[in-house]
Amino acid sequence: MLVDIHNHILPGLDDGPNSMEEATLLATNAVANGITHIIATPHHCNGEYMNVSSVVKEAVDHLNKELIDKAIPLEVLPGQEVHLNISILDDLNNDLLTLADSGKYILIELPRNHIPIFTLEILFNIQLRGLIPIIVHPEKNSVLRKDKQKLYELVSRGSLVQITASSLIGIHGRALKKYTKDLIKHNLVHFISSDAHHYKKRPFLLKDAYQYVRKKISEDYEMYYRENAKHVLFGTEFRPMQPISFNKI
Ligand code: FE
Repeated sequence: MLVDIHNHILPGLDDGPNSMEEATLLATNAVANGITHIIATPHHCNGEYMNVSSVVKEAVDHLNKELIDKAIPLEVLPGQEVHLNISILDDLNNDLLTLADSGKYILIELPRNHIPIFTLEILFNIQLRGLIPIIVHPEKNSVLRKDKQKLYELVSRGSLVQITASSLIGIHGRALKKYTKDLIKHNLVHFISSDAHHYKKRPFLLKDAYQYVRKKISEDYEMYYRENAKHVLFGTEFRPMQPISFNKI
């Protein structure tokens, strides 16, 4: 069993596949990566796309039917990639989707070039409601790229972190590869996932990323990431590794 917790596989909802045909090609690419379960996480409230929960759930049902018809052995579950915004707390009362709709984990995307002043408060309030925030691809945020200790602080306060497979294996250059590897070594990574958008341009690459972890870090870390993703699917908690500060004492 292999679970991907962050991708854009649902057709026509965001900047993922444009058609059901493209979505099934992306699904075939997932299967080739050994993936058995996908939590589909279309963009939510990022200024361009809204994707309310009913729309996501309907698209998931539709895609699952297509996968059964085409005998593609993959199960898709609903989720959202929630862009950090001040109304998240109100939305949690009515429309936000947790990952796999399990009521436990929620994907949070930060803006590209800053960390909003209300970030800590929102993350804290999400946790007060019994949910666990997962910050997606910190390597895409310019503030966290410059200051890894800021990410350490977020993790110390109970957030989890997902890095993107393509960053770790060097698709976006050596700097991001080194950055994501440093985060791993400081136990600031809890999940590796694809953020796949397109079967050719932004495919899953999860197999390569896990292989990289196995060879360059350790088999234990590979198992940790695989197991953590399963916990997200089932909505169960796990004990994260102790984060290591970048500040020397
Ligand atoms: Fe994404």
